[in-house]
Amino acid sequence: MMALSGISVSRGIAIGEATVLRREQLEISECIIPSPLIEEEIARFRTALLRARRQLRAIRDEIPPEAPPEVAALVDTHLVMFDDQMLREGPIEIIRSRRCNAEWALKMQRDVLMQVFEQMDDPYLRARKDDIDHVVNRIQQNLQGQNSFPDQMLDHRVRGTIVVADDLSPAEIMLMQKQGIGAFITEFGGANSHTAILARSLGVPAAVGVHHARRYIRHADRLVIEGRLGVVIVAPDRRELRWFRASQMRERRARAELGKLRQRPAVTRDGEAITLMANAEVLEDVNAVREAGAAGIGLFRTEMLFLGRKELPDEAEQYETYVRIIEAMQGAPVTIRTLDLGMDKWVGEERPAGAEGSNPAMGLRAIRWCLKDPAMFSAQLRAILRASARGPVRIMLPMLSEERELLQALALLEEAKSELRATGEPFDEHLGVGAMIEVPAAALSVSRFARHVDFLSIGTNDLIQYTLAVDRLDEEVDYLYDPLHPAVLKLIQMTITGGRRAGVGVSMCGEMAGEPAYTRLLLGMGLREFSAAPSTLLEVKRIIVDSDLTHLRDQVRRLLRQGRPGGLEKALDRLNGPDRSWQLADS
Ligand code: PEP
Ligand code: MG
Repeated sequence: MMALSGISVSRGIAIGEATVLRREQLEISECIIPSPLIEEEIARFRTALLRARRQLRAIRDEIPPEAPPEVAALVDTHLVMFDDQMLREGPIEIIRSRRCNAEWALKMQRDVLMQVFEQMDDPYLRARKDDIDHVVNRIQQNLQGQNSFPDQMLDHRVRGTIVVADDLSPAEIMLMQKQGIGAFITEFGGANSHTAILARSLGVPAAVGVHHARRYIRHADRLVIEGRLGVVIVAPDRRELRWFRASQMRERRARAELGKLRQRPAVTRDGEAITLMANAEVLEDVNAVREAGAAGIGLFRTEMLFLGRKELPDEAEQYETYVRIIEAMQGAPVTIRTLDLGMDKWVGEERPAGAEGSNPAMGLRAIRWCLKDPAMFSAQLRAILRASARGPVRIMLPMLSEERELLQALALLEEAKSELRATGEPFDEHLGVGAMIEVPAAALSVSRFARHVDFLSIGTNDLIQYTLAVDRLDEEVDYLYDPLHPAVLKLIQMTITGGRRAGVGVSMCGEMAGEPAYTRLLLGMGLREFSAAPSTLLEVKRIIVDSDLTHLRDQVRRLLRQGRPGGLEKALDRLNGPDRSWQLADS
């Protein structure tokens, strides 16, 4: 047995025989074309371009209507590239100026395009280099009149096998999926590559970035892919195989059971409806959000748009991103949180001036940073407001510690609205505004915040950090990070009760909302809206539909009277009942 590690892109365990694909190497060398034949060479390039486009179009037309929309979108991205001047005309100019063959000209132009993408700061855009290669290779193959893989590799013989290749384009995956491949492994590609995104959307177990996979894996080797970890086991022995088969069965059964809950409303046994929303950070998360049957996005963290780059995205770029998320959610509400930069997240290599304090978690972060840089904040507010014309949106403000900050932020929001009204730019006049309660001071004066907003959302990740004075990023003090600390629970309870008294909805969007072991506790405390990672939502729903609020209220009231830190686990065990499968791992 041998284990190879790669990058996890989709869950699931796949067991099967390897089909190792070796591409026919495209030999590309430069030839000088005599002047009278130049136009003929250009015509040859145009024909290859046309053929490649036609092939891709045919693949696009065969995508079944029930496939997730991203699948067609990925192939469309490649189709659009055929209209790009740099790809269409660039090689022709090179053929003319260098008097060289079309293959060489295309290769040179590909290198230029690669350099452009190489210099991009955004890892998502950098990953788009793969797309250029996929399109260029298809044109090269047409120039050379050959298929990338020997034909027999793309027929029924791949059915049920695990395909191992250097890289696979979305179009190749589409073809292979139709042939019924069981899973795939690629040597290249990252978690952001379209190949990875497609695997997730189609639910095909996969591991990408498994370096030198084809050096270690031979044709017909037995393989196991542990998709969640991105690990590939080559030639497992009988005992190992049995173990993986059993895990595969368990996982399938659990998924099928949970899957049944997707369409079921999140209603408790005694008939109370609970709102289950999902957290998201990038556009690609939307598919998982919908898969999990979420009622909407309860927290969209906007930082991903800003991280890993030197300059801030402008209003137009932000607007585009928000619109794409809103459209992908097809009418379900999207809660966009304004920037939470600072602490561990900032733009560019350096912390901004003023944010290099000795304790960044308590320094210039989130709303504090935004209020210090109103131009940046207003650009985001305008982008969110404009996007609100395209579908239901709520704005949420992070890390508020005093009412004044909230009032300043609301004033800037009003200003942004006036600007848009003046220019006739449409936006949702009734867009809801929410305050995150994640600083103890805010929880302790929740009524002050509640009177200015439409909803509250408890950010337990920070609320725990600030209540217990435990740096959430520091492993040394991780043992003190306790969601069940009575002080934390007291602040959560105050927020839920305070919100209810003020007549505003209270949600929870920290990790605690997605931990099934806490679901009953939170229901008993009065929480009626949860927002959590899509992967945990169905498990939370399982607890909800199996809970009776009338009993829970009293049980939880008694449980909360226990004042001793660390003393609540046993009481929680009793509350959660005999089904221990979803209880705390270490309880
Ligand atoms: C939180 O603090 O609970 C929260 C949801 O925000 P973040 O994790 O992004 O700080
Ligand atoms: Mg937070």
